[in-house]
Amino acid sequence: MKIFIDPGHGGTDSGAIGNGLQEKDLTLSISKKIRDLLSQYENAQINLSRDSDQTLELTQRTDMANAWGADFLLSVHINSGGGTGFESYVYPRIGAPTTTYQNIIHDEILAQIDLIGRGKK
Ligand SMILES: [Zn+2]
Repeated sequence: MKIFIDPGHGGTDSGAIGNGLQEKDLTLSISKKIRDLLSQYENAQINLSRDSDQTLELTQRTDMANAWGADFLLSVHINSGGGTGFESYVYPRIGAPTTTYQNIIHDEILAQIDLIGRGKK
């Protein structure tokens, strides 16, 4: 399984800013942690869209994933506003297997963290 992890934002695009933190730094840190955890599994190849503070357009990220032949793409974000909690998104009306992955990952993350569930969107 080829898993492509996309740390949201980066470079000139900081993403959300608050409490002295920038989204681009948090998404990179989280994505590297996900990479390190998944790298422990056999038959799993992990690639990141960026592993430093680099500016990338959205199409560059998806083009990289497609060129690599990714089976799965996960983009990590820290949304601001609208309260607190965890939520996950998939492309509208995409169906399985994407929604199957979303259900599994979403429920496992909520079981591991002490945050309000904001829904599968
Ligand atoms: Zn974001």
